[in-house]
Amino acid sequence: MTGQLVPAQAGAPAAESDVMVRAEQVHKSFGPLEVLKGIDLEVRAGEVCCLLGPSGSGKSTFLRCINHLEKINAGRIWVDGDLIGYRERGGKLHELRDKEVAAQRRAIGMVFQRFNLFPHMTVLQNIVEAPVLLGQAKKAEARDRAAQLLERVGLSDKLGAYPGQLSGGQQQRVAIARALAMQPKLMLFDEPTSALDPELVGEVLDVMKDLARDGMTMIVVTHEIGFAREVGDSLVFMDGGVVVEQGNPREVIANPRHDRTKAFLAKVL
Ligand code: ADP
Ligand code: MG
Repeated sequence: MTGQLVPAQAGAPAAESDVMVRAEQVHKSFGPLEVLKGIDLEVRAGEVCCLLGPSGSGKSTFLRCINHLEKINAGRIWVDGDLIGYRERGGKLHELRDKEVAAQRRAIGMVFQRFNLFPHMTVLQNIVEAPVLLGQAKKAEARDRAAQLLERVGLSDKLGAYPGQLSGGQQQRVAIARALAMQPKLMLFDEPTSALDPELVGEVLDVMKDLARDGMTMIVVTHEIGFAREVGDSLVFMDGGVVVEQGNPREVIANPRHDRTKAFLAKVL
């Protein structure tokens, strides 16, 4: 089946090795409501891109489009040089098969505002489940890796605990470890600290900082301006389904150029 996307352009971008995510003129509507109105964005490998914007501006929708949770109506998204959801052949776009979509999704980790851990499974089982089920690792290997990941997020002692026995911050750290267990090349975070009590925000941000230092490519939707300033390599400000302003986080935060960015920052700073 051919997608309803814009036709291939002459000189479409090649798979540049240092570009991890490239979005070109991404459009997404829900019925008559146009939520993304032509998003262009580039995230280089190893970069932390912080995505800011008021509620309803399309941030979650955009992340969901990268991760195949939503289908775009027009435009293109590449992750690590692979066109998301489609294959280009003879100037035409063909939808990928389910198996190919699954393979693309596996390479992208996502962490949500709500942790979505399986409540009836221990912390260890939560992390081991997907890699084993998807045949990515043997059980023993997956357990070893899970133990390492739990150490990394500071929860080695919670291996046998159930999610209900953990604080929100601990659950979110498990959710991050679970996403990392798939060995993704890209991590998407959708307001990972918004549901947490203020005193638990820091421990989750610390894990994310550690990941960033380790070179993980990340797109982080957040209202944590301190995190964007300290850890972000780029800041993208979205409003009304468009990118209003982007640049170096420290520069944009200190000197926002657009009124909408100024108004938003004045509220969250
Ligand atoms: P943000 O994450 O920036 O707050 P969202 O991407 O969640 O914004 O939502 C953008 C707009 O799209 C909102 O108006 C929201 O109501 C709408 N929207 C999101 N998902 C759906 C959906 N599945 N069906 C209909 N409308 C949706
Ligand atoms: Mg959102």
